Amino acid sequence: MHTIDKIYINGAFVTPHGEEWFDLFNPATEQTIGRVRLADEADAGAAIAAAKAALPRIASASREERLAWLARMETAVRKREAELFDAVIEEYGAPISRARWMVDYAADVIAHTADVLRDYPFARRAGTAEVTMTPVGVAGLITPWNANASFITGKLATALAAGCPAVIKPSEMSALQTRIVTEALHEADLPPGAFHIVTGRGDVVGAAITAHPDVAKISFTGSTAVGKAIVRAGADTLKRVTLELGGKSPTIVLDDADFAEVVPMVLQAGFMNSGQACIAGTRVLVPAARKAEFEAHIRDAIGQFPAGLPSDPATAIGPMVSQRQWERVQRYIGVGLEEGATLVAGGPGRPDGLSAGWFVRPTVFTDVRNDMTIAREEIFGPVLSIIAYRDEADAVAIANDTTYGLSAYVMGKDAERARRVASRIASGRVLVNTLAHEPKAPFGGFKQSGLGREYGTFGLEAFLEPKSTLGVFAA
Ligand code: NAD
Repeated sequence: MHTIDKIYINGAFVTPHGEEWFDLFNPATEQTIGRVRLADEADAGAAIAAAKAALPRIASASREERLAWLARMETAVRKREAELFDAVIEEYGAPISRARWMVDYAADVIAHTADVLRDYPFARRAGTAEVTMTPVGVAGLITPWNANASFITGKLATALAAGCPAVIKPSEMSALQTRIVTEALHEADLPPGAFHIVTGRGDVVGAAITAHPDVAKISFTGSTAVGKAIVRAGADTLKRVTLELGGKSPTIVLDDADFAEVVPMVLQAGFMNSGQACIAGTRVLVPAARKAEFEAHIRDAIGQFPAGLPSDPATAIGPMVSQRQWERVQRYIGVGLEEGATLVAGGPGRPDGLSAGWFVRPTVFTDVRNDMTIAREEIFGPVLSIIAYRDEADAVAIANDTTYGLSAYVMGKDAERARRVASRIASGRVLVNTLAHEPKAPFGGFKQSGLGREYGTFGLEAFLEPKSTLGVFAA
């Protein structure tokens, strides 16, 4: 049993003022694996005060110094890879290959940030003025449970690269990963007050950070509903906000696509991170004339994506993170059936042979209309909807008929045509015949998938304010 009873404020592991305890579970067994003592508003206040005190020191650090912080952070996180890997499997249930990627990425994302910082022009001219990109102030970083470690390291690396001390509120469901990351970051020997980690409830610690007048910026990854609450709570103090929210991403399969080639990619895009991915391609748009053929390919390929124990190397889809998440996914499968969608694969209940654990059967519906609930709402589980389209224009219209706009996928033989289709989709990212990530490219959503961007230069600038100095340089 794990007992986590410390938070991290001002360079020290301290006992929270908060006294509430929260149970941690292994989602593959449903067993309790530990508990975490939660921070409260007073702890958030103490962390924010310490971050505010550290602001002049962090904001005035040179590029070289900031690069040295990031290098030490990367080394320290890499040193804890083995433990982090075990924690991701035990506490989150990610299958081995996914857990490996998540752990590598937690360190890689720091290196990517250093790459941006190395060449970033903090000072530039605009006419006669000098424009200086200035740290925005104390940053509040709020993360979800579906990739907790890399969200912490990525957001913190970017805040520090910009010269902003940070107060981090990780998901309370990811306390094992948070502890390991905190210990690693402590070892990185950053200046006192550079970062603080206050694990607590969203509506307590998250809300306190979001409303606090000494926090200038919120970088949040999580659900659209909470993102809207954060905008409202931050309005009084006009906080800068970056919101990375939900999605209902379309995968457009063009009529020239080779289904044998494309279908495994379609399933991978939909089932990534056990379906608990904001960027999952969950609306699969296929030409009506080839729908039956596509469904047959899905039936053939679905076996390559078994749900099972995270520790089994064959597993592609692990359990849902919590009972609540499992129930949510089951409810949506029921709604799909009630609304008249047809199952191609999967369905309600657990996969065969698994009597415990929050496992879901990899599920693909067909005969889905884009106005059905399962095509409109983010399910956040391995449940895909095949939607037939008439022609290219219809495909684009269906793809864009959503309140979201985080990611999209276009697959087809003629790459130029696929690019043309991609250009017509309202989405922060469109991946054409690939699932590869590009860390230099901005990441974020159109419409209700978010506000602002992370990664690359755009991500760094989200923690900076342009300041113009005029007159001094005038002729
Ligand atoms: P969530 O919105 O419930 O919680 C996210 C974080 O916000 C948690 O740390 C939570 O404690 C905190 N929080 C909750 N209420 C709060 C409040 N009132 N004020 C401040 N903070 C609060 O989301 P989740 O269930 O942890 O994660 C799943 C969601 O995250 C999905 O909707 C998914 O699409 C989204 N997500 C988006 C991205 C992206 O980059 N766009 C990435 C991963 C997950």
